[in-house]
Amino acid sequence: MDRLVCYDCGRTYSFGTAARCGCGEPLWFDIDDETVSWPDTGSESAGSVSYGHDGLWRYASVLPAAVPTGLAAAAGGTPLLRTPSIETPDGPRIHLKLEGANPTGSFKDRGTAVGISRVDGPVGTVSHGNMALSVAAHAAATDREAVILVAEDTPDSRLAMIAQHDPHLFRVRGDYGRLYDDTLEHDLGVAFLNSDSPLRVAGQKTVAYEICEAFRPAVPDAIVLPVSSGGQASGVWKALRELGSAGLIDEVPRIYLAQAARCDPIAQAYRLGASRVRPVTDEPTAAVSINNADPPSGNRALAAVDDTDGAVVSVAEESLLAETKRLAADAGVSVEPSCAVATAAVRELAETTEIGADEDVAVILTGSGYKYESPETDSTAVREIDRSDVPAAIRDLAS
Ligand SMILES: *Cc1c(COP(=O)(O)O)cnc(C)c1O
Ligand SMILES: [Zn+2]
Repeated sequence: MDRLVCYDCGRTYSFGTAARCGCGEPLWFDIDDETVSWPDTGSESAGSVSYGHDGLWRYASVLPAAVPTGLAAAAGGTPLLRTPSIETPDGPRIHLKLEGANPTGSFKDRGTAVGISRVDGPVGTVSHGNMALSVAAHAAATDREAVILVAEDTPDSRLAMIAQHDPHLFRVRGDYGRLYDDTLEHDLGVAFLNSDSPLRVAGQKTVAYEICEAFRPAVPDAIVLPVSSGGQASGVWKALRELGSAGLIDEVPRIYLAQAARCDPIAQAYRLGASRVRPVTDEPTAAVSINNADPPSGNRALAAVDDTDGAVVSVAEESLLAETKRLAADAGVSVEPSCAVATAAVRELAETTEIGADEDVAVILTGSGYKYESPETDSTAVREIDRSDVPAAIRDLAS
């Protein structure tokens, strides 16, 4: 599996000969229909939860890497959980894909696992957080050097989390957006597994394989996910194209993408009916993991939405904060605000009847909230009491 193709102009390249297409758009692996099939072993379903055996390597026949041992073998295979407690009477049935269950707590492990299993030698990435953590951990697991470039404003607490895995960690002053291109332009002897590299997109498509397999023989009506660089959205679209083209799904789910209104270049292009995403000036948002003002796969993400009759939704800051709280309090699921934009988007799409009450929606909750440090703690959430007052305080709860 060595052929890369441009989704836009169709030009092909051998793996390793080009970082992007000559037309400027990102590449992905070209997959033959014959290699696409459902695994023989069934996926497991227990009531309202389903998950697959062997993690993402269940779909090894459509991946450009051999099945690894070690940490990379543990990526994917996350639960898909029907969640009536956050459904509304006029809204769709909601199935949450809990990507926080990956080894480093986000879907980024899917792309890293495939990337690290394909390339030799030192690896690197340019990231604000989750991808840096993922690459650092997987490099440690395979005993190699990792070069991690983070933005100047990355908080110390986050650096400490990444530093656990002993990478070469650089906090970089200067135009962070340009760094992505810098790592592709110079031959540095480090394989950069950046947000939309073809290896990463190949790994990330497995989330949609898992979702569609869990619904067999039915197909979900829609898949909703947060979008930043457009890498994961590309992976989801690629999976649906492969499954559709091989005849394994009858209908293609609509792809809905969610952004924070304070940084929504893809949503802005969608609203304008444009096919090209323009960089925006962003404002600080709590949705830090999706704060990319100039997304490298933005055009491809727009094409995914257009091709599947979906939409791109901008979520107001108050709404994404309220939704983060609601998921934790009503579903027991802790996510970063960057994920909550997706369920907030479902709410909005249900209100406008873009998504119907009789539909099934899979929402990709991209990362765990347990490693996200909220800037402020709700001071009313904790009561300070003496030990002697504990019994009385508990009795008071009941009255
Ligand atoms: C990286 C990330 C995203 C965005 O994914 P892209 O592939 O960059 O579009 C969304 N949510 C979380 C938690 C992430 O870490
Ligand atoms: Zn091209």
